[in-house]
Amino acid sequence: MKDKWIQLALRLADATAPASADRYHKVGCAVLRKEGSVCGIGFNGQPPGIDLTDEEASHRDFRRRLTTHAESNALAFCQPGDPYLLAVTLPPCDRCLVDAVRYGVKIIVCRPSTEPDAHPVPFELAKRLKVELRVVNP
Ligand SMILES: [Zn+2]
Repeated sequence: MKDKWIQLALRLADATAPASADRYHKVGCAVLRKEGSVCGIGFNGQPPGIDLTDEEASHRDFRRRLTTHAESNALAFCQPGDPYLLAVTLPPCDRCLVDAVRYGVKIIVCRPSTEPDAHPVPFELAKRLKVELRVVNP
């Protein structure tokens, strides 16, 4: 896939992230087909109709339990087999990586994490699942 599509997907993911209502971590994702058309975009947040109280939002572990990931929300717009490239503003978690492969994604590009306690970039899992995973600096 041409680098221009990878850069476009990352810019779309970057542009989508601010739509997240999460006050601590705004994550954006864009999914493209092989020819470069957009399958879906998404951002992290609670399921529709579920709002967090201030107290709930302040508890990181509780908030995380109720948060759907940007990748999952973007893939929900896609037909299995359509996605080829997934771009996300943070390294994917193991679950999102597996879900991306289930939808047919062949290349995942992400921004590096700026979190000091971030999970490691799942390169080993990507290799096992035969999906290319690249970290691209902004
Ligand atoms: Zn995830």
